[in-house]
Amino acid sequence: MDLYSGHINRLIDELSGLPGIGSKSAQRLAFHLVNLPEGKVKRLVKAITDAKENVRYCRECFTLTDSEVCPVCANTKRDHGTIMVVENTRDLAAYEKTGKYEGIYHVLHGAISPMLGIGPGDIKLKELIARLQNDITEVIIATNSSLEGETTAMYIGKLIKPTGIKVSRIASGVPVGGDLEYIDEVTLLRALEGRVEM
Ligand code: ZN
Repeated sequence: MDLYSGHINRLIDELSGLPGIGSKSAQRLAFHLVNLPEGKVKRLVKAITDAKENVRYCRECFTLTDSEVCPVCANTKRDHGTIMVVENTRDLAAYEKTGKYEGIYHVLHGAISPMLGIGPGDIKLKELIARLQNDITEVIIATNSSLEGETTAMYIGKLIKPTGIKVSRIASGVPVGGDLEYIDEVTLLRALEGRVEM
């Protein structure tokens, strides 16, 4: 027996497909949404469609941005010879919040995971290698300390080493399996300052 209307069921279905939303949360959100004033729902829908239509990859570092080149890459005061490699835009944001990192970034949009069938060709790795043609003095690998993050770091390290460009890995002060975005700024800075050459 269907307890809810077909429309509610569809909404619950869509919501429960989102990361971190279980079926209970999806139900709670669905009822919250249908009880919202119409204007609020319209603003929410517009925010989602506007983001989807206007957000794109930065031409240089592949972070998500509204313009062709993101504000970090467009900033000429940044050190364009140092690239920090992160797994996603949230990790970039975490390092930007410290306000202490002067270099630029490269966003991989994932990590190598043989278990999930994600190979080097599935993340923005060849785009990183292409960037090494520019005047790069150091690549700092700041992928997560999860198994996937470590696998990715090792892979990139091996790839870059022969080029003679300095390649380093952030210190393992970052808790194992920890997502960079949940780690406080002091720990992030310590991990950056304590980076070791690979
Ligand atoms: Zn950029």
